[in-house]
Amino acid sequence: MSKVCENCGKTQMAANQVHRQSQWVQRRTSSPKQVNLQNVTVTDENGNKCKKKLCTRCIKKMKAD
Ligand SMILES: [Zn+2]
Repeated sequence: MSKVCENCGKTQMAANQVHRQSQWVQRRTSSPKQVNLQNVTVTDENGNKCKKKLCTRCIKKMKAD
């Protein structure tokens, strides 16, 4: 439970690494990309403050509410 969002369960994803030789693409390799997790303090439904590891997408959603 280290690199997982505690709200949505998002974890590492596959990303393409594009190797180029001057202006042409030489080859593409797949590499894992980590989630952008931040430590934030949030208030739950009982009004208690607690620290959580959330991805930036979940933080954006919570700020909109
Ligand atoms: Zn999330």
